[in-house]
Amino acid sequence: MKDVAIIGLGCAAYTAAIYTARYKLSTLIIGEEEGGMGMTAAEVGNWPGDPEVRGPDLMERFKKHATSFDAVEHKVARVEKVEKISGGFRLTFQSGETAEAKTVIFATGSNKRHLGLPGEKEFTGKGVSYCATCDAFFYRGKTVAVVGGGDSAVEGAAIVAQVAAKVYLIHRRDAFRAEPFWVEQVNKRDNVEFVLSNNVAEILGDARVTAVKLEKPFNGSLKLKLDGIFIEVGTTPATALPEQMGCALDEKKYLKVGADMSTNISGVFGAGDVTSGSNYFAQFATAAGEGAIAANSVFSYLQSGALHEKEDGGKRVRE
Ligand SMILES: Cc1cc2nc3c(=O)[nH]c(=O)nc-3n(C[C@H](O)[C@H](O)[C@H](O)COP(=O)(O)OP(=O)(O)OC[C@H]3O[C@@H](n4cnc5c(N)ncnc54)[C@H](O)[C@@H]3O)c2cc1C
Repeated sequence: MKDVAIIGLGCAAYTAAIYTARYKLSTLIIGEEEGGMGMTAAEVGNWPGDPEVRGPDLMERFKKHATSFDAVEHKVARVEKVEKISGGFRLTFQSGETAEAKTVIFATGSNKRHLGLPGEKEFTGKGVSYCATCDAFFYRGKTVAVVGGGDSAVEGAAIVAQVAAKVYLIHRRDAFRAEPFWVEQVNKRDNVEFVLSNNVAEILGDARVTAVKLEKPFNGSLKLKLDGIFIEVGTTPATALPEQMGCALDEKKYLKVGADMSTNISGVFGAGDVTSGSNYFAQFATAAGEGAIAANSVFSYLQSGALHEKEDGGKRVRE
């Protein structure tokens, strides 16, 4: 039985593994997709100490660092189930194989919702972005669209409008769901134009995005010329596994964690985009920070002897 199983192969998981290895804890790090969401970040401009780095290169360096420790076993597989057993937890993989660990860190990330438009997949990273906070900087003086009507879209439009020459905020309804504060912020800017009660039908381009085709004419035309499009239609945290084993989720369906990254189940922790931590600010820096905290909490938990305690009538007693 390993000391800890870290589920995920993204920024939070690799960081947690670096810390657990240095705490001399036997560590299984297991995930379906190596590098996680970081693989889709074309250019990262806010990883401290590295002003310009490609997401896949950064993730490769994370992996190399985490797997340089003898204490770390790295495995690529989908985990289908996590269940409590005596003295720890059992993980069941898609293949039917199993592994056991005294503690678990869920670092399963989240999935950006896509629109499924023609051209969307083809131009991802070539003008199609799912993260305004991350990529706005690359559109200085350019014309872009932001699609969506919630907080991330409207806040995203406000961020992009600080650098882009022109921003079209395209929303399928006639009013925004976002916080009025952010709607006011974008309203104040004379370089933001609303395209309401309309949808993008297709993303057009050659090597990169050059335009979008709308469902209904806007200013007399179905075609809107642009250099980039930010799709900000929401994020779904990957909480199926923790939810299945009884971990509490918050009202937004993120894995509920305390300041120490612990969940409501003793010995189970969370880190990164999947959690309610870091004020939902889903970034490499925050995912890494949560991974480090979760690893530290696993170490304290194993040291404290809490592993040998169980709930009994609302009290914790020795097993
Ligand atoms: C286009 C784009 C650009 C971005 N650019 C930036 C940027 O410039 N700067 C910045 O700070 N942030 C950026 N981000 C955000 C950043 O990528 C994320 O915040 C960060 O990667 C989250 O890391 P994570 O480890 O929490 O989750 P993820 O990287 O999503 O990792 C989750 C891992 O869990 C695995 N997993 C999930 N379910 C299972 C399962 N059942 N079994 C096994 N494995 C499972 C996945 O396969 C994956 O390996 C960007 C995001 C996007 C989409």
